[in-house]
Amino acid sequence: MKLKATAKSIKHAASIIKKGGLVAFPTETVYGLGADALNPRAVAKIFEIKKRPAFDPLIVHIAEMEWLHKLTRQVDKKALILIKKFWPGPLTLVLLKSSLVPDIVTAGLDTVAVRMPAHPVARQLIKFSQTPIAAPSANLFGCLSPTTATHVEKQLGKKIDLILDAGKCSVGVESTVLSLVGGKPVLLRPGGLPVEEIEKAIGKVVRHVYWQASKSKNKKIQSPGQLPSHYSPRTPMKLIKSLEQIPFSNDTGVLLFKKPAIKIKVGVVEILSEKGDLTEAAANLFSALHRLDDAGVKIIYAERIPAVGLGSAIMDRLQRASFKE
Ligand code: AMP
Ligand code: MG
Repeated sequence: MKLKATAKSIKHAASIIKKGGLVAFPTETVYGLGADALNPRAVAKIFEIKKRPAFDPLIVHIAEMEWLHKLTRQVDKKALILIKKFWPGPLTLVLLKSSLVPDIVTAGLDTVAVRMPAHPVARQLIKFSQTPIAAPSANLFGCLSPTTATHVEKQLGKKIDLILDAGKCSVGVESTVLSLVGGKPVLLRPGGLPVEEIEKAIGKVVRHVYWQASKSKNKKIQSPGQLPSHYSPRTPMKLIKSLEQIPFSNDTGVLLFKKPAIKIKVGVVEILSEKGDLTEAAANLFSALHRLDDAGVKIIYAERIPAVGLGSAIMDRLQRASFKE
């Protein structure tokens, strides 16, 4: 069932969470599939419904700082600086976990990923539920992330108790995941908060080009979300450097960063931002990919994007959407 997010429907959603059910809800990044993070049976349902491998840990969403201290053993100075500056918002911090966090949430790791979302509906849902909410993106594992309630409905509609609908997500790409355990801050996933902003606040962050690193046998994947193929449309996708590489055909779909200088004669063209604005492009990314995937084209050509600021998160998703063994 899909309901418009109102005080009444959010309270209803909270009662489902408290009873161990699942609710899809909007955040500023993408729609999440939420369960009571302290209820292992409820969390197990997330893995089952998403077909998510049990080795891929979940992000725990909170609305109040006191929960951060309950869920973790240590919150160091750098974490506090980042929290003060960027929470609530699209930044997930990986910290040492407390015994309160069930193993299923963290896939047995000694660390937990925590985020305080900014979306008012997410915040109200967490507050009404009186518990932290474990939530990955509300899609099938490895597939395109949902940035509207309709995207969720298409992939998971019949399998979950409720979808709260609050329109399109404003950021449109998943949160930036930063590990603060083991001395140096490490970027585990570029996302809605540019890593450059993080570095302005706490200094150097170790960056991995993980989808490449994981191709090499010597480099260990540090975060399970670093799988090289992820966030993928069903249609094969290819990254291109120049628009001249696109064959003119009705069976072709094209994903462009900005308005092209030349006319492109193909089946479907999606432009992420006419003006070439990275924030607008990120917000439109998954909707554009969903439309291209539903258009019935045989192949999608995607234009490369400058990998700075939010462009790094967009390029990361495009690289992984087009990755082939
Ligand atoms: P999703 O919830 O689907 O957006 O994915 C959550 C991301 O956070 C994935 O990339 C996970 O691998 C990562 N993550 C969650 N918990 C941890 C953790 N304890 N250590 C490292 N990465 C984590
Ligand atoms: Mg996901």
